[in-house]
Amino acid sequence: MKLDAFTLLMKQHLQHFAGVFLNFAAMKNSLVLYNSLSGQKEPFESIVEGRVGMYVCGPTVYSDVHLGNCRTFVSFDIIYRYLLKLGYKVRYVRNITDVGHLEGDADTGAEDKISKKARLEQLEPMEVVQQYMNGFHDMMQVFNTLPPNIEPRATGHIIEQIEMVQAILDHGYAYIQNGSVYFDTLKFVKDKEGLYGKLSGRKIDDLLSETRDDLKNQDEKRHPSDFAIWIKADPSHLMRWNSPWSVGFPGWHLECSAMSTKYLGEHFDIHGGGADLKFPHHENEIAQNYGACNCTPAKYWLHGNMLLMNGKKMSKSDGNTIMPNQLFSGDSPHISKGYSPMVVRFFMLQSHYRSTLDLTDDALQAAEKGYQRLMEANKVLQALQHPGGGQAGELDRSIRELIDAVSAEMNDDFNTPKALARLFELVSRINSLQGGQLSFADLIPATLEELKTTFRTFIYDVFGLQDELEAGSNGQGGLVDGLMELVIDMRQQARASKDWATSDKIRDALQELHIVLKDGKEGTSWSKS
Ligand code: AMP
Ligand code: ZN
Repeated sequence: MKLDAFTLLMKQHLQHFAGVFLNFAAMKNSLVLYNSLSGQKEPFESIVEGRVGMYVCGPTVYSDVHLGNCRTFVSFDIIYRYLLKLGYKVRYVRNITDVGHLEGDADTGAEDKISKKARLEQLEPMEVVQQYMNGFHDMMQVFNTLPPNIEPRATGHIIEQIEMVQAILDHGYAYIQNGSVYFDTLKFVKDKEGLYGKLSGRKIDDLLSETRDDLKNQDEKRHPSDFAIWIKADPSHLMRWNSPWSVGFPGWHLECSAMSTKYLGEHFDIHGGGADLKFPHHENEIAQNYGACNCTPAKYWLHGNMLLMNGKKMSKSDGNTIMPNQLFSGDSPHISKGYSPMVVRFFMLQSHYRSTLDLTDDALQAAEKGYQRLMEANKVLQALQHPGGGQAGELDRSIRELIDAVSAEMNDDFNTPKALARLFELVSRINSLQGGQLSFADLIPATLEELKTTFRTFIYDVFGLQDELEAGSNGQGGLVDGLMELVIDMRQQARASKDWATSDKIRDALQELHIVLKDGKEGTSWSKS
């Protein structure tokens, strides 16, 4: 290689690395997210430079995790992954609710969901918790979500919750009645005008007159909108602890206030959860934190929208529901066949986390095609070799613009459907480059390399998709790759010894499995047809 050509190549490589590095550094400063508390998009500025504290309400582990829960946790997984990609050091806390969540989301007078399950199945409450927590973890792994950094359990933080109740009492925001402790919503409304109801957009008068006449203990409250933060338990109650007020258990909302404060501090960056948690759960969390330390817990509140099925809210009670395993196996009247976990993850990516997502068989079939097209294009792209030379022409410019656009869409409140659409605009260029309709002469090698990095980064690191053929839904890592290498080697040896019968037999057998071998200068590669 002549010196000039070498210098040019080095320059292009350096530009490429600088580009990738600078892109994410610059992107970090232009992230915008929708804050449910202000009801608008806001520039994201972390409280501590370079660090993000994020708390997401986790599952109540009294039954198998359903697909709606999975959607919410996949949405926050992508947000977590993108923050990491932007270079933030993230502390992601997602709790396990294993006490205090009462039937019908009541705050007093109803049975604890976990205790009820334990009573019905004659199990220890912790057996119920362990069983469904294990199932939840397995499912999170199947969907390839990253584990949180801390996964605190409510029962492991009773002391912190008692201390918080005491602080709220000390500051005059709660009162004791017959051994239970209630939060005084009227005082909060009076002291902090406009805050109670802000997150859920409820009118304060409606909120204050809301009553649950069907429940016991309502008469203990000074006002119908007050809610229990410590509940006295009768002796038949399976989970109860000593406290200064009674033998009892903490209110459901309290655990998240106590555990987010413990692990992320009194004021942290992001609090997330499903939109159905805005009221009463998150409104009450804000009230409790204010009562305990005169502080607002999170700077940004993010809420994922609900999963629907055939246009209606997915709900167990009217049979409009599907469990993840039914979706994978196809064993449900709602679908015509099974869909793999990565197809389902891709399907979730196709809608914005703040939009409802309607699960239909047609939409899943379209997602399956889209997923395959994207993964195959990535395989083709990673195998493309630039012949050298080339000019930064129109093609080069449009590819660079699209590469930037993918990040820009993600920076606009984590807009995964639009980011995917940009990747698909690139897919058509990749396929045309491979097919010869577009020419490498209009593209410099550095741009091709940047395109490869962009695809790998977004598909695997940010969107968390896995190549099913390689990973397998059973999570067997590079096993398929290893076996394919072996098969390709055997075919090479057969060809080298002119054993055409064996080499043809291998090729035909692979074709039956829809695996195509391509012989090139760099050796033999394979792909799924
Ligand atoms: P739970 O186990 O009921 O406490 O819920 C765990 C998480 O799943 C919460 O963040 C809920 O908001 C969320 N969730 C529950 N149902 C749905 C649904 N149909 N679609 C999306 N998220 C949901
Ligand atoms: Zn919570």
